Amino acid sequence: MNKFLSLVMLKLRNDFYQNYDCSYNGLISRHTSPTMYNGKPYDLPFLEIGTKDCKHAEFGGCTMCNFGKDEKINENKIIKQLEIAFEICRKKPFVHMAVCGSTFDDWEFSPLVRKKMFELANKCGYLEYFGTESRPEDITPEKLEEAKSILGDIKLSIGIGFESSNFFIRECCVNKGLKKGDFLTSVNLLKKYNIDQEIHVILKPPFLTEKEAIEDSIKTIKYVINELKVYVIFIPVNMRIGGTLTKWLNEKGLYNIPMLWSVLEVIMALSEKELEKFIIPAFESSYTLQQVSENCDKCTRRIRELILNFQYTKNKKFIEGAMNIKCGCKDIWKERLKEKALPLRERIIKNYEFIAKEILGNNWWIENKNWVVEYVRCCSVLNSKKQEKSKE
Ligand SMILES: [Zn+2]
Repeated sequence: MNKFLSLVMLKLRNDFYQNYDCSYNGLISRHTSPTMYNGKPYDLPFLEIGTKDCKHAEFGGCTMCNFGKDEKINENKIIKQLEIAFEICRKKPFVHMAVCGSTFDDWEFSPLVRKKMFELANKCGYLEYFGTESRPEDITPEKLEEAKSILGDIKLSIGIGFESSNFFIRECCVNKGLKKGDFLTSVNLLKKYNIDQEIHVILKPPFLTEKEAIEDSIKTIKYVINELKVYVIFIPVNMRIGGTLTKWLNEKGLYNIPMLWSVLEVIMALSEKELEKFIIPAFESSYTLQQVSENCDKCTRRIRELILNFQYTKNKKFIEGAMNIKCGCKDIWKERLKEKALPLRERIIKNYEFIAKEILGNNWWIENKNWVVEYVRCCSVLNSKKQEKSKE
């Protein structure tokens, strides 16, 4: 885990939640994600269940996320939410339920509650396919065996946040704190147990230019689909109302979420075959969401409609149609793609210095600068070694 980003994120999150009354204690959040199921267009109910916190967020969490707030919530309250959630999804054969962090983390979602969730899924009588999410290190053979035995004929799918195949980006831009070994172990374990998996890949973490972000997403998506041979959930980074580093940087003019043109550009780079394993979910989230990818007022609605049609059909012609729309904002996007920037390592250190001085104070930076810079350097060197090794 990146100790510097964790410190910064803890401060930003605490400040946000102290000044903003947004307890989700025992609250369900729900939206519908347009997708395909059994080869047909399908409105997937996506429910978020309020738990006590995401454990990763207890240490600061990811730079673009504000999920998870230390809440006092007991098992009964979570079970109550689950009962309501299964009522909400009545008669839908495929539903997705996410928690703040990780469904298979015993600390966040106790074995008793998890067992209850799978029992409710099994008993409800309408489900064929059930999706949830986990961090890879929480997935064990025992937990998978239990889930499968309770679910019976219901097929299970687990979403896992990978974000980028580039270790340096994951560690120094996202603060994902994910070990590639844990990740690959869980991928193989889920395959062994014949459980579907959806690997989350983001577009545009902080510190990357628009062009670098597009390239990193394409590279990661192709790696997951072609090498690991599993599904990708593609998530353009959104803007929260607070409690994230991306929001803080945005206020300083140092970060923008990706434009819709970039979202299209990533999809355009994928082959028909790759698109079979590619999912772009709803541009939606729970209520601390502020903004999602957009272009200008003239073309945004039209492009979103075309993306919606793609989500329902996976037909690339909708994306091509969207990409061919002529609009003045495309020139702004093309300018963004030409943005010149320092080499990534230098750029990150420069940004860290600014963030440290503003958020933790000048003295903090003077006293701690050495280990912070050394950490970025080590991650960068390790990343180059990993990339060389993967080429061999
Ligand atoms: Zn436009």
